[in-house]
Amino acid sequence: MQSFDCAIIGTGPAGMSAALRLSELGATVAVLDRAPSPGGQIYRAVAQSPLATPDKLGADYLSGADLVSAFSKSNVAWMPGADVWHLGDDGRIFYSQDNRTQELQCRQMLICPGAMERPMPIPGWTLPGVMTAGSAQVMLKSDAMAISDAIFAGSGPLLYLIVAQYLRLGIPIAGVVDTTPRQNYVAALPMLASALRQVGMLFKGLGLLREIQKSKVPFYRFATDLEVVGTDHAQGLRFQQDGASYELSGDAVLLHHGVVPNLNLARSIGLDHVFEPDQLAWRVKTSPFGQTSCPHIWVAGDGAGIVGANGAKHAGELAALGIGCELGLLDDVGRDQLAEAPRKASAGQSGFRRFIDRLYQPAPDLMLPTRDDTIVCRCEEQSLWDLRQGFQSGARDPNALKSLTRCGMGPCQGRQCGHIVSGLLAKWREEPVADVGYYRLRSPLRLLTLEELARLQDGESAR
Ligand SMILES: Cc1cc2nc3c(=O)[nH]c(=O)nc-3n(C[C@H](O)[C@H](O)[C@H](O)COP(=O)(O)OP(=O)(O)OC[C@H]3O[C@@H](n4cnc5c(N)ncnc54)[C@H](O)[C@@H]3O)c2cc1C
Repeated sequence: MQSFDCAIIGTGPAGMSAALRLSELGATVAVLDRAPSPGGQIYRAVAQSPLATPDKLGADYLSGADLVSAFSKSNVAWMPGADVWHLGDDGRIFYSQDNRTQELQCRQMLICPGAMERPMPIPGWTLPGVMTAGSAQVMLKSDAMAISDAIFAGSGPLLYLIVAQYLRLGIPIAGVVDTTPRQNYVAALPMLASALRQVGMLFKGLGLLREIQKSKVPFYRFATDLEVVGTDHAQGLRFQQDGASYELSGDAVLLHHGVVPNLNLARSIGLDHVFEPDQLAWRVKTSPFGQTSCPHIWVAGDGAGIVGANGAKHAGELAALGIGCELGLLDDVGRDQLAEAPRKASAGQSGFRRFIDRLYQPAPDLMLPTRDDTIVCRCEEQSLWDLRQGFQSGARDPNALKSLTRCGMGPCQGRQCGHIVSGLLAKWREEPVADVGYYRLRSPLRLLTLEELARLQDGESAR
């Protein structure tokens, strides 16, 4: 079995900058990602874009090429297409690569799994033809595939960025339905002064909105009561705006209202989590260097609380310094000296992050379903009505509800319904989400065939 000082999961900005720093310090480093090339979400396929004009994705996208190039030239052991499905608390990692399970051993483990889009359980969200705007962007970046005449609905900078990328590439859009509540603009005002320290970021966001408004695409703001139209395929979107009803036709509906940390790896190994009230999401509890409740496991980047691409880069560097210190490659003084620059840079961005978090905080009726027939657990097809029945039968926490209704037991392992189920139970119990908790997760974190398990090379592991 291969053995490394540190194994890093994820090659987004956090994982790549951590790997570079650790290898500079002299550690042996393995980096695993299920993706075929490094870059993570933001810099996906930046080194070999299938698009004829990747510059249309924006300067931020292209800026990742330098980091990816430095990473590719470094001496880290890069393992593309490695889907991690089990983390052992003894430093062992099991991952699937080319339909075979492999195993490696590390002294320190850094998890940089990034974010996922917050599920948006509106009526009809499970119909064919409905997907997330981020998935549409993944198709664009990795395969140059686009969805014509789609309706984009939701809120937040990533939504506006993807719409702007579509517009620049000349892909027809049926409409944009913005759900940012009016009251969010008022609530975010007190944070504006500190956000102005990152005035470039503010102008970037305003620029995206201007691109959308200047296009001829129908753009509706302050939309509420969203509902996908269609019986066996999405054909449009119905919504309310200032008391009036609207219905837009489109070939697909692309939803997005922010991102939340990707929890499954960290949850599967039982790391302590906290509920972040500003981001309305769970995140791993970490020290300033990213060390978790399990001392040889570290988490950095969006996976430890949403910080954005630059924040992820700084968090990755800080985690590398913490790990380097733990490995005896530098002392506390050296660590703290090197940590000064990334610490300062991430502190400079925190005001802007707070502003964005408040401005684009999702409307409550978009986070939790309101109609009884709306599916909550997509894998097990459990509706709001089914879950309420389970609660009324005595299931008061997510694991009890899981046992009673099977919600969260499907192949996505609660990725889609986890936050919704915790939120629903909090509402029904009239208690904070933090007191309700989250599903207890177990490996394997992906579907494994019996053949793959049987081919495990190490007899001890197979048992
Ligand atoms: C769909 C989507 C699109 C986004 N697009 C943009 C954008 O265009 N611009 C922008 O500014 N921000 C974007 N973001 C936000 C962006 O994720 C962050 O700002 C930034 O990329 C976070 O960096 P990170 O290193 O923490 O994680 P990421 O960049 O998300 O990288 C995490 C990596 O971990 C890998 N991974 C996760 N779990 C496993 C596992 N079990 N086994 C193996 N590998 C695993 C993933 O494949 C991924 O490559 C996007 C987010 C999402 C969810």
